[in-house]
Amino acid sequence: MKASEIRTKWLQFFESKGHRIEPSAPLVPHNDPSLLWINAGMAPLKPYFDGRVVPENPRIANVQKCIRTNDIENVGKTRRHHTFFEMLGNFSIGDYFKEEAIEWAWEFLTSPEWIGFDKDRLSVTVHPEDEEAYRLWNEKIGIPAERIYKLEDNFWDIGEGPCGPCTEIFYDRGEKYGDLSDPECRPGGENESFLEVWNLVFSQYNHNKDGSYPPLPNKNIDTGAGLERFASILQDVDSNFDTDLFQPIIQETCRIAGVKYKENEETDVALKVIADHIRAIVFSIGDGVLPGNEGRGYVIRRLLRRAVRYGKAVLGADRPFLYRLAGVVGDIMGSHYTEVVERREFIERVIRREEERFHETLNDGLAILAQFVDAAKKAGRSSLDGAEAFKLYDTYGFPLDLTEDYAREQGLGVDREGFERAMEEQRARARAARQDAESMRVQGGALSDFTVKSEFVGYTDLVTQSTVAAILHEDAFVDFAGAGETVAVVLDRTPFYAESGGQVSDGGVLRGDGLLAEVKDVSKAPHGQHVHLVTIKEGVLKKGARVTAEVVPEVREATEKNHTATHLLHKALKEVLGGHVNQAGSLVAPDRLRFDFSHFSAMTAEEIAAVERKVNEQIWAGTELAITHMPLAEAKAIGATALFGEKYGDIVRVVRVGDYSIELCGGCHVRNTSQIGLFKIVSESGLAAGVRRIEAVTGKAAFLHLEAQLGLLQEAAALVKASAAEVPRRIEALQAQLREAQREIDALRGKIGELEAEQLAGRVRTVGDVPLLAAEVKGADMDTLRGIADRMKLKLGSAAILLGSVQGGKVLLVAAVTPDLVKRGVSAGAIVKEAAAACGGGGGGRPDMAQAGGKDPSKLPEALASAERLLAKPLQS
Ligand code: ATP
Ligand code: MG
Repeated sequence: MKASEIRTKWLQFFESKGHRIEPSAPLVPHNDPSLLWINAGMAPLKPYFDGRVVPENPRIANVQKCIRTNDIENVGKTRRHHTFFEMLGNFSIGDYFKEEAIEWAWEFLTSPEWIGFDKDRLSVTVHPEDEEAYRLWNEKIGIPAERIYKLEDNFWDIGEGPCGPCTEIFYDRGEKYGDLSDPECRPGGENESFLEVWNLVFSQYNHNKDGSYPPLPNKNIDTGAGLERFASILQDVDSNFDTDLFQPIIQETCRIAGVKYKENEETDVALKVIADHIRAIVFSIGDGVLPGNEGRGYVIRRLLRRAVRYGKAVLGADRPFLYRLAGVVGDIMGSHYTEVVERREFIERVIRREEERFHETLNDGLAILAQFVDAAKKAGRSSLDGAEAFKLYDTYGFPLDLTEDYAREQGLGVDREGFERAMEEQRARARAARQDAESMRVQGGALSDFTVKSEFVGYTDLVTQSTVAAILHEDAFVDFAGAGETVAVVLDRTPFYAESGGQVSDGGVLRGDGLLAEVKDVSKAPHGQHVHLVTIKEGVLKKGARVTAEVVPEVREATEKNHTATHLLHKALKEVLGGHVNQAGSLVAPDRLRFDFSHFSAMTAEEIAAVERKVNEQIWAGTELAITHMPLAEAKAIGATALFGEKYGDIVRVVRVGDYSIELCGGCHVRNTSQIGLFKIVSESGLAAGVRRIEAVTGKAAFLHLEAQLGLLQEAAALVKASAAEVPRRIEALQAQLREAQREIDALRGKIGELEAEQLAGRVRTVGDVPLLAAEVKGADMDTLRGIADRMKLKLGSAAILLGSVQGGKVLLVAAVTPDLVKRGVSAGAIVKEAAAACGGGGGGRPDMAQAGGKDPSKLPEALASAERLLAKPLQS
């Protein structure tokens, strides 16, 4: 059975059990800063699990792309681990529980109509305290007791939020894959004979902040099965890598490198690692991640470097080759994941560039390694530091064994322990960064079962008459609230937009009989109602009362201008920079807009100008917006841009600006682009690897921005005493004047030096038969002293020279000796050393030129005199 058939069967099976099929979410988590990558089928469904959002259908099934970097060391070594894999999942959000989950898993696995595994080869593990699961497997399904294992580990808990016991299903692959006499050779042990294919998690407790575990009000089912593992069993092959998901990649790599699969263990590991990593690389780039130095970008860079290294070291691939495998990944996966086909060219380009860069880096790394080796030898060390080896590993992608090989050739060892320590420190940092976040919210809250309808009328009306449907004070329903209190309010109809899709919520007031309340924030309840956070200024707010709800119109209009401008900007960026530009986040506020998007380098001034012009052209065109509702499939067919990772219902809202921009969007927009008035980019900067951020303003804010910029120009004009138009020419002229003045200063310095030399020449005395010049040069810095010393050597032909000065409360000394005297044993180093000692300092240098510093300026005359004393002693040779 082909892998693609397994996917289809999975979705068909759960559809037949009333599940809604959700498409795979992108690998980059949407609105979830706690996760680096989507790493399980449940990850993109978290808002359903912790009750933030109530799904239309509580039964969901999916096939989800996942990345797990913590399994990287296993890749290529075990038969079953990948960094990128597909997880098949079925989920119940407060609907069915253990019984159905177990029965359906069994039916899917064993019925010949579906997967048709041999029942006798299946065994399971359960949590020791989960008697219900044990009974279901044993009595209802009929698995004999000796094939049900109780494991303490079978409890799924990631910190705060839903958690509970789990049951795992194993397929017995037989003795061929393990040593049956090994005690680890059992389900859940370290072995490859019993292959874990499916994990069913019964999330039935709430892990609270205080460490208590009360039962969940709504119990959930979360299951995950590995597509690649199913395929290896159904295709009856040795490992996941021998299935149709990997073989074409491995075969193509063999062709490129001129090697054969299954002839040599080391080659096979390399082929498997490469086949694994290229899938992770292709899919993550396809989802908008670019190689970089931090976060996801760094993960991708490391995977790519690891693959290149295996290619180079084991397969002898000395030139970029990974990019040539991207197309094969597309061929295998494209029917289910269109993104890897649609963006193939872009993906290839990114991989190729990164590979080329890495080959350069490798060469740089070798140079650094050579330096480390040199330094170690010079310092008389017998091995390289652990920290050095780690730096090579971390920064240049040099694996420890490569560093060791190279060091060994040079007769050196490597401090392995130090390396491991540095590695562990980095891991600890990564863990700490993950841990505090990888939890969900605690399920519950007063509004989780509140289903009274509330209608949003704010697309057309900014003022409505409404009835107060509910008031909450500190998450408890109350009947009224008085002046000074801050409460949450649900209205039967509301003009207030609740923060979503990047657009901030509306502000305004609620008025009623003696009542005035200020709306500060609006968010969405689990069942979608808008919840207004209000502070009561006057009077009393009562449940059931009639109120007038009023949005501040100017603020909303400013927000609308920015929202429509954001859509125009998105399209203009795609036109100017290319189709790889994708929205990575946005903020639409009344005073500004912020747009984050994938792109690999800083925009040039020309690109920014081109984007601004395109957006403004759309504004000048005065295009009417068309906002309609239609089925998702239809919207996609007309080319609507869907927001990365956003979940949509079956019927979507489509915002169209002529033929220019078509986006799925629930936000508020102007009716005609001319209302935006003016668009201006304020800044463009890097946010993370491969992600850029633009901040921009529209309408009045854009005008004020330009006014301020012009003010600066006028200020500059006044300073250089010119009109605004003349400012650039005037600055050029000033710069030319400055250069001319600098040249004059340099010439004058030269002349002064000559005069100084004339004067100094008169102060030469002879000590023994050595002409000596020892003098103070007032106000000279070190460079000047050296310059004069050089000049004096030429001028005097044969002399020992010692010059000193005082600068910044310190003594500067320079000594110089002409070659004839150097030959006779006179040393500038010795002279300067003696002189420095006399004024409390130290220094040295070559026999012909040396410099030093001293601490005590009052001792400068003594220092200069010391030269005479030194030369008066008989010379050594
Ligand atoms: P294992 O112990 O084999 O690493 P796991 O306990 O980490 O598996 P779960 O987190 O329960 O796995 O994930 C559910 C299913 O996803 C597993 O039963 C397996 O089929 C699949 N799976 C998990 N990790 C990987 C991986 N790195 N590569 C391929 N499939 C995986
Ligand atoms: Mg695992």
